[in-house]
Amino acid sequence: GTSLLVADDLRKSFGATPALDGASMEVDAGEIVAVMGPSGSGKSTLLHCVAGIVRPDSGRVFYGGREISLLRDAERSALRRGQFGFVFQFGQLVPELTCLENVALPLRLERMRRRAAERQAAQWLERLEVGDVAGKRPGEVSGGQGQRVAVARALVTSPKVIFADEPTGALDSLNGERVMRLLTAAARETHAAVVLVTHEARVAAYSDREIVVRDGRTRDMARAVS
Ligand code: ADP
Ligand code: ADP
Repeated sequence: GTSLLVADDLRKSFGATPALDGASMEVDAGEIVAVMGPSGSGKSTLLHCVAGIVRPDSGRVFYGGREISLLRDAERSALRRGQFGFVFQFGQLVPELTCLENVALPLRLERMRRRAAERQAAQWLERLEVGDVAGKRPGEVSGGQGQRVAVARALVTSPKVIFADEPTGALDSLNGERVMRLLTAAARETHAAVVLVTHEARVAAYSDREIVVRDGRTRDMARAVS
């Protein structure tokens, strides 16, 4: 097929518990896909497998036609650094660094010069409407601001896919909506695909398509007409 990302019949158990029991999904370039389902249904495990963080017991994951599970660890982490961005529920910013340094960090790890990296980071902070917290540390900003800094950091390397696991889970609905609006607008502008794990319909409403996970199995849903 032509999908950017394909997961085919993934199975993964932790001890005796099957977290994934035949999960499949496809994501096209630039597509925003919500992975929904109740707590414990396997959503995070699916995201970790699709992003090449966790190796499934069986089944295959393809990115751009290449089978991720066949790559060596170093190749897989290079793929993640170069092509993917990640946003989690919380605790992802380095507390000792300023917000600006946090956003610049992925570029610094790619050996970009400090001045250039911080210039780009500052632009992303502005775009996420948190330019004013550039010099603060994560502990000095609100939850909504911290998540927008985290989104800026996920986007600064211009990833092809953004993996977001309950990105609004720790926020009130107003701040959650703001994060989703800014995240999806930036993804659209940069033609990044988004794999969005959420159990909230209000958050999933920002996606093009929903995949429902139940007991480790996936089901494709037609997007509800809003
Ligand atoms: P969801 O994201 O839908 O809440 P998860 O993928 O986190 O679901 O978990 C699916 C199942 O796998 C749950 O029963 C969970 O307890 C189990 N699980 C997930 N990760 C681990 C792990 N690292 N060790 C043991 N069990 C795990
Ligand atoms: P936003 O809606 O932009 O996320 P808030 O209205 O929550 O921001 O917060 C406004 C200001 O209050 C912020 O500039 C921040 O400095 C401060 N603030 C809010 N929550 C916290 C917090 N938990 N810790 C430290 N400062 C906070």
